[in-house]
Amino acid sequence: MTIGKIIDGKAFAATLRDKVADGVAGFVEATGRKPGLAVVLVGEDPASSVYVRSKGKMTVAVGMESFEFKRPDSIGEEDLLDLIEELNQDERVDGILVQLPLPKHIDEAAVIGAIDPAKDVDGFHVVNSGLLATGQEALVPCTPLGCIMLLKDELGDLSGLEAVVVGRSNIVGKPMAQLLLAESATVTIAHSRTRDLASVVHRADIVVAAVGRAEMVKGEWIKPGATVIDVGINRIADGEDGKSRIVGDVATAEALAHVRAITPVPGGVGPMTIAVLLRNTLVAAHARAGLAKPA
Ligand code: NDP
Repeated sequence: MTIGKIIDGKAFAATLRDKVADGVAGFVEATGRKPGLAVVLVGEDPASSVYVRSKGKMTVAVGMESFEFKRPDSIGEEDLLDLIEELNQDERVDGILVQLPLPKHIDEAAVIGAIDPAKDVDGFHVVNSGLLATGQEALVPCTPLGCIMLLKDELGDLSGLEAVVVGRSNIVGKPMAQLLLAESATVTIAHSRTRDLASVVHRADIVVAAVGRAEMVKGEWIKPGATVIDVGINRIADGEDGKSRIVGDVATAEALAHVRAITPVPGGVGPMTIAVLLRNTLVAAHARAGLAKPA
């Protein structure tokens, strides 16, 4: 039995961060200042805090300026909008990221909509999603952009390939489908109402699973030779020692017998997300400084 390749997202992300660091050095030389990324964290969610800390560390590691703004759960929407406006005006800040989810009393769409689209390094602003959907230069959501980088690295030209994206969220599924379309793949978006998901997935040369259901996509669903990108991050209890572990949306062990290549969880898409965030910040900094988009 042949076994497919495991795509090393960690190594790819490290190479991307190195490239970003080179780009930052060039930017500093050209402008005399460092690109800056501001991260806003509301509340004390432990997972979000860990994520924000690691974003801050990696931002500094590539030579950028990191600004962190922690606000209590009780912050009012107006105060948060005022902070966003300050950051929009701050010349040192090229990228603004508001860590989601926000507390229930705050309208997430209003907060994202208040970010200057030129500083929207998460790519969630409707201006950026509209630009992406109409094939124009945009800041693109980090996770799907990381997925397309891995796919192009593995497959080269994606044109004409059948791609099935499982999941239609605004942050992963929909932008993923737009990026695949921009690469001239033939794209199907599946979701919770899709009938006979197994046979839809079986058509695909490229499967992107962004569902949030542990190991839902079974090995036998995968067409032989397909490339699979597993975006899911699911914590499950491990029967043997009672500890929990992280698994993706794809039953990886089964899928390995069918795939050409697959991203593991952890170590696949996950590490790409922050690396692409840094890349987006560098791109935003260049655009704001009137410089050509970095290579
Ligand atoms: P959402 O919950 O916003 O969206 C999940 C999507 O999956 C929805 O479109 C939903 O369909 C669909 N879905 C749910 N159940 C099924 C089913 N049984 N069959 C087919 N489709 C189904 O999740 P996100 O897009 O935000 O995230 C998806 C996963 O990716 C999560 O595990 C998340 O943790 C992970 N993630 C990982 C990141 C990374 O850095 N690696 C970054 C972002 C997310 P419907 O619309 O019909 O409800």
